[in-house]
This record gives sequence, structure tokens and C-alpha cells, in this order.
Amino acid sequence: MTVRVRYPPSPTGAQHIGNVRTAILNWLFAKKMGGRFILRLEDTDRDPSRYRPDVIPDILSNLRFLGIEPDEDWEKGGPVGPYIQSERLPLYQKAAEELIESGKAYRCYCTPERIAALRAGQQQRGEPTGYDRRCRYLTSPEMDKLSAQPFVVRLAVPLEGQTLYHDEVHGDISVENNALDDQVLLKSNGWPTYHLANVVDDHSMSITHVIRGEDWLPSTPKHVLLYQAFGWETPKWVHAPLILGTDHKKLSKRHGDTEFAEYIRRGYLPEALMNFLALLGWSPGEDQELYSVGDLIDRFSLEGITPHPAIFDANKLLWMNGEYIRKSSPTRIVDLSIPYLQEASLIKTEEDIELAERVVPLVTDRMKTLEEVAPLTDFFFGDMPKYDSKAVEKWLKSSDDGVTLAKILPRLEGIAADQFTVNLIEAAVRSGIEELGVPSPQVIHPLRVALTGRTVGPGLFETMAAMGKEKVLYRLKAIIAKEH
Ligand code: GLU
Repeated sequence: MTVRVRYPPSPTGAQHIGNVRTAILNWLFAKKMGGRFILRLEDTDRDPSRYRPDVIPDILSNLRFLGIEPDEDWEKGGPVGPYIQSERLPLYQKAAEELIESGKAYRCYCTPERIAALRAGQQQRGEPTGYDRRCRYLTSPEMDKLSAQPFVVRLAVPLEGQTLYHDEVHGDISVENNALDDQVLLKSNGWPTYHLANVVDDHSMSITHVIRGEDWLPSTPKHVLLYQAFGWETPKWVHAPLILGTDHKKLSKRHGDTEFAEYIRRGYLPEALMNFLALLGWSPGEDQELYSVGDLIDRFSLEGITPHPAIFDANKLLWMNGEYIRKSSPTRIVDLSIPYLQEASLIKTEEDIELAERVVPLVTDRMKTLEEVAPLTDFFFGDMPKYDSKAVEKWLKSSDDGVTLAKILPRLEGIAADQFTVNLIEAAVRSGIEELGVPSPQVIHPLRVALTGRTVGPGLFETMAAMGKEKVLYRLKAIIAKEH
């Protein structure tokens, strides 16, 4: 049996961390088992307050960002397409018709007004809400009379007994049938509900494992009943735990942005997101945090999915991303940083790009996200940096500082522009310090503040070498001129 798993997002909003976590678990399982990963669009909810066609393109691009290429999807197609539910309506209508014929479903002609009144009455009396099954017991003549009226199709849920199923994570589950409503399968406009479309598609697409978030666990008995009504074999059920914030509350905006694309925008690396999200609710059972995609696939098993809630720790993700930035080649980080520097209007010319190639590697050890590259390197760009007033107050205020810098300047001028290297710069500065006969911080700090506008940053001599002779002299002269 070939494993076939699916990721079926509904375009009701941007993809969130939890959606993508589910996609990752499915994909890892498919890869591990040599199976197929199917992407399907569940777009049957056309309520204008929920339907968001604008988010559809991001679904594929988010997955591709992570290196996940579905084996079958709505762009490349596949043997059991179409992969968009709104293009499969006749299938659901036919399936509903079949259930009516076999007596497993029935047409319900109750008006929305009647259903609303029924519900209101139940609520008033403190009873559980649900359909009272009036149309389930219509006689043939009654049905004939109503046949021109609009109707929905409802599942005739068994009135007694239990629905039993096994979840790979949560074990055996049983639900009393009398607690289940005769759910709507087909709406009066001929469109299916999520339950019908989902089950018909999972069956017709030969899905072997339904791996999804635990929020779908309460819907599962309804699905099991549908499989039974059709006489189809159920897939294996795998419900991955909910994702909670560090305060153990349901993940929401309060815990930082949960929109997946936002993490891409902020400069998280695909391998960091893949690693971090895979570990939300799944564990390879060892005490290690960093896993390459290959490691994740090797170690993946459904047994590793835990029933306990997963905790989303944004700081851990930041840490992990920093680790992956440092594992990456400097040229990759430079390439990925350039758009952020352009966005911050730091890179304007070809020369600025060359400068970026020299300076980004100096700050990667302090970067946790790519977007941090701009504030860490901004002082390299432009003629003069922004000066931090406290730093200036402390290190560039006294006229001695101007004298100190003026002493260093000719030594730097003496180095040829194409030999403006860390070693020669350091030798020049150190000989100046010796000649001045002052403790070295009294030279190093004013020099750093004059050149970078601040007191912290990468090593001073590395900074100067990357900045280049011309800019170093320009900035020093400008500061010296100001001091006198
Ligand atoms: N369309 C549902 C969603 O957006 C899919 C749930 C399922 O996996 O069955 O989450």
C-alpha cells in the first residue's frame, strides 16, 4: 500500500503556523514512507465574510519556501484531480444522491426560519441544540408535496449505539450516536459542506492517513459515520496536538505573529522553520534540537506525535534561526541580506553591494533574523553614520580626542588603499597608541565612535578594513574638523 497523505487548506485566511505545522508532518511522513503528498483546496465555504481567494497563491509559495513540493496539487494536477473542491461539485452531488437512495441520508425541506426557531427554543430550554429530524420521517406523499421546495441533504445518523474509531495518537475513541446531529451534507444551493466534501475526496483520492490538527477530532465521528454510510474503509486517523503559547493559552496574535508569511518576511530561514515546526507536537525521542530536513525524514514516525499540547516558544525559534544563520555559508547570508538592506534604503549603488559583501559576514554571529542585518550594519553605508549622542558625549567630547584622532590619521593615510587590511590597520593604530603613550581604550573608543557613531559593533580593525580606506579617512577628517 502506498502511503497517500493530504494537506487540504481552506482559503479563509492567511496560513498560520499551525496550518504549516500540519503540512510539514504530512510531508515528512510521505517522504519517510516513500508515499505521496497531496495538496487540495477546500474552497466550498463561499460565505463572503470568510472566503479569501487572495490567500490562495501563498499556500503553494509558503510550502515551496520550505522546500515542500506536493506530488499532486491544483497547479500540476495529478491522477485524481481536480484538486480544487469547487471544481468537483458533481461528485459530491452524486455521492449525496447515493446516500439518499440507500436510505443513509434524506432530503430536509425545513426552512432556515424553522431551524432558527427550533434552535432558539432549544437554547431557551437549556437543551442541546440540533435538528429534530422532522424530515427524516416524512411519508412519500408528504415528500411529493414538498418536492419543488428547496432542500438540504442530511445524514441519517444511527439513533442508537456508538461510533468507535482508533486514533493513532489518542487511542480508541467512542461517541454515543444519540449525541450526534443529523448533519447537513449538501446545502440547498447544491454545494457540499466540509464534512461531505472532505470524506468524498479523501476516499476518491485514496488517502491512507488523515494527519491533521486536534481541533478536527470532534468532527471525526461524523466522518467515520459517513465512511460507514458509503461502505468505505476509513483512513487512519492521526490528530496532532494543539499549539499553545508559552502561557498555555491557544496560540494567537498575542504570542507574536502567527501568520506564516510574516516569518518569511522577517527573515527566518526555511530550514529553521522546518526544524522548529516539525518539533511542535512531534519528537524523535532524543535530546537534540537541531535537525536537518534529512534527519527529520529519517527519524519521522507517527508514534513520535504526542497527545500533549505543543508550546510555541518564539524565543526558541529566534535562537534556532540564529544557529542556522551561522551554519550557512557567508555568501548565502549576504545574498539573502541584500533585499533587507535595499528595503532599508542602505544599498543604493553597485558599490554598496560590494560593501554589503564585506560587512554582512562581520555581523552574522549577532544576527537572529535576516531583517536584523539592517540595524547591525547601517553605519557602514552612506558618507557619515548616525551618531549616538551618549557615545559622542563620552568619547568624542574633549579636545584631546580630536588630537588623538589627528595623530592616528596620517598613519592610516600611509597605508596603500589596496593594502588597507586588518593587520596593517592594527599595526598603524597600535604604533599611534604607543607614540601617544595613553592606555589603548583612549584611542580605540574615540576611533570607533568617530567611524561608526556607536560604541558597540564588530571588531574595530575588521570594521575599518571592510569600510575601506576612503570612507575611513573621510569620516575621520570630518570628525577632526568638527572638533577644532
Ligand atoms: N479544510 C480543513 C482546514 O482548513 C481541513 C481539515 C482536515 O484536514 O480535514 O483545516
